[in-house]
Amino acid sequence: MKFKKSEKLYKKGLKNLVGAVNSPVRAFASVGGNPLFIEKAKGSKIYDVDGNEYLDLVVSYGPMILGHRHKKVEKAAKKALKKGYSFGASTAAEIKLAKIVCDAFPEMDKVRFVNSGTEAVLSGIRLARAYTGKDKIIKFSGCYHGHQDALLVAAGSGLATLSLPGSKGVPEGAVKNTLIAEYNNLESVKAHFEKYDDIAGVIIEPIGGNMGVVVPQNNFLKELQELVQNNNALLIADEVMTGFRSTFGGAQEKLGVVADITCLGKVIGGGFPVGAYGARNEIMENVAPLGGMYQAGTLSGNPIAMAGGIATLTELKKQNPYDKFEEIGAIIEVILLETAKKYNVDLSVNRFGSMINPFFTNIKVTNFEEAQSSDTEKFAVFFWEMIKNGVFLPPSQFEAWFLNSEITEKDIQVFSNAVDKAIGKVANSF
Ligand SMILES: *Cc1c(COP(=O)(O)O)cnc(C)c1O
Repeated sequence: MKFKKSEKLYKKGLKNLVGAVNSPVRAFASVGGNPLFIEKAKGSKIYDVDGNEYLDLVVSYGPMILGHRHKKVEKAAKKALKKGYSFGASTAAEIKLAKIVCDAFPEMDKVRFVNSGTEAVLSGIRLARAYTGKDKIIKFSGCYHGHQDALLVAAGSGLATLSLPGSKGVPEGAVKNTLIAEYNNLESVKAHFEKYDDIAGVIIEPIGGNMGVVVPQNNFLKELQELVQNNNALLIADEVMTGFRSTFGGAQEKLGVVADITCLGKVIGGGFPVGAYGARNEIMENVAPLGGMYQAGTLSGNPIAMAGGIATLTELKKQNPYDKFEEIGAIIEVILLETAKKYNVDLSVNRFGSMINPFFTNIKVTNFEEAQSSDTEKFAVFFWEMIKNGVFLPPSQFEAWFLNSEITEKDIQVFSNAVDKAIGKVANSF
């Protein structure tokens, strides 16, 4: 397998782009080597500029749940394109997508569309503060909520407990109202509520996906919902990754919890830039123009993005691929664990529906600290061997892999062969 054209583009890209990328994980920094440049994609496959074909388990970090270029989505987007790209005024498509989204979440009466997950979450946090009149927000270490200042803490465990900014350029003032708790540890949340009486809300990824896949244990989420309610705060579910991915109604439906505010992104745009936040009327009525919380966007509700979202969610509801995801996820887990056993490599696998990933560690991973026990050097060897054997993975130990509804039996065979080579190589390299 050759990567010559990717290497060339990478060198060229370095001149006018930062690290030749527009989002840092694409730079392959944690696995070494040059990033791949993509030419095209179709169904479950993606093709780089050197003509190499891969089974795509990244799917744009989640959005392409129907696989690439589903014919109905493509048709809908093309049809919208012919009518105009952006109007700065309302369209019927916004109302249609809003109904689909609100119908999927039982306590969501109204929704506001934005352009990304980051925007959805920063607006959701503002709304929690506007509604409660309180300032503090609790977040969990290892959860990622986009790149707004206030939540760029606990990107690394050392900084986490001190509430220090996790990124340069974030002033201390921007995170002084951000409190950090530990995932799957209710006591760590209780401690904050006992200490502070001005907590507006608790934000959580109901299924952790940005420290690798981390699943809530026992009744953690239900107990969290109760704790938050008893303290007159709001539960904010960041379902940017899990919304319409875990089930049609997201992780909340599957886990039997209901958040006060839900943030969405990724799948709702089907590959076009769409984010959203929604809640019951009483909360959403605080948002301008009905209320005093300002939030706006020149391209929000963009007609082409709305068309892509409507087509994606309509097709997704029809296909209802969630049982199939469960089956394929289970097969992938078995392949990973049995191959690891064959080569005597320590491996722990977490999965939830269509999100799955292995950790190169010998412990069960239930929080960020445990995830960090993983051997990232082993992951890097594994990653490149998977690439060389035709499987495109996120270039980080701490990113979830995503299934899509176009995956075939042959794809699973390709995956299985690649895993055998890749774990075999890990066993021989250390
Ligand atoms: C991806 C993601 C975001 C950020 O969304 P962008 O569209 O990248 O801004 C926020 N929260 C979660 C849980 C995510 O997975």
